[in-house]
Amino acid sequence: MEGVDLTSVTCPWCQEKLRLDPLNVLTLNTSEEVKAKLLAGEYDNFPCPTCGRDIPYSNPILCHDILNHILIYYFPNPPPEDMRETIQSVLRRIIRKASLQGIPSPPDDDWKVRIAFGRDELKAAFTGQMDEE
Ligand SMILES: [Zn+2]
Repeated sequence: MEGVDLTSVTCPWCQEKLRLDPLNVLTLNTSEEVKAKLLAGEYDNFPCPTCGRDIPYSNPILCHDILNHILIYYFPNPPPEDMRETIQSVLRRIIRKASLQGIPSPPDDDWKVRIAFGRDELKAAFTGQMDEE
């Protein structure tokens, strides 16, 4: 795709090199099914097109919960503890920039933005048991 920087991933099983879109976007609207799959970890891995085995998805998944106005950057396979603060500050800057460019996002309206490292934090992000960003 033009204008999209792809990231390289090597399959840990067959060593095949793959090119991936660095950001996966998941829209949760009327379908509870997608959310249930997400919370069950079904998007945490993806099948290798060559050998068919699961590869852990290390890029963030941007979850757009349309009904509840929650935007979550979900890291299914979280980076090490010492890298998380840097990632959080970069994401906050991106969010602020998007809002300055008129892309609907907090603090423009009642959308909440959350960053979730791992599935426990993802569950907390949906239920609101988390610090607001
Ligand atoms: Zn493979």
